[in-house]
Amino acid sequence: MNRIQKRKQAIKCLYASMALITLSIATFMMKLVMIVSAVTGIMFFLMYLHLSFKYWRCPSCGEQFPVVYSRMDQRTECWYCLESIIED
Ligand SMILES: [Zn+2]
Repeated sequence: MNRIQKRKQAIKCLYASMALITLSIATFMMKLVMIVSAVTGIMFFLMYLHLSFKYWRCPSCGEQFPVVYSRMDQRTECWYCLESIIED
């Protein structure tokens, strides 16, 4: 799996975590559902942070790309050194 795919997966984790946390807020009357969705939501969020910090960086110059969704997500080369960020 290359960097771009990992980044896409990270973004999906972020969306899933936001959906689950919203669900947990909406279901605050049902304690069990609320706890389960909050915990899963936080886990997805941690996965997003982990994937972003570990893989969302340039392979040649090592610069960290913005973790928050940005225009960098539309690019296939590093915006610092212009090296391609897709490895085979
Ligand atoms: Zn670079």
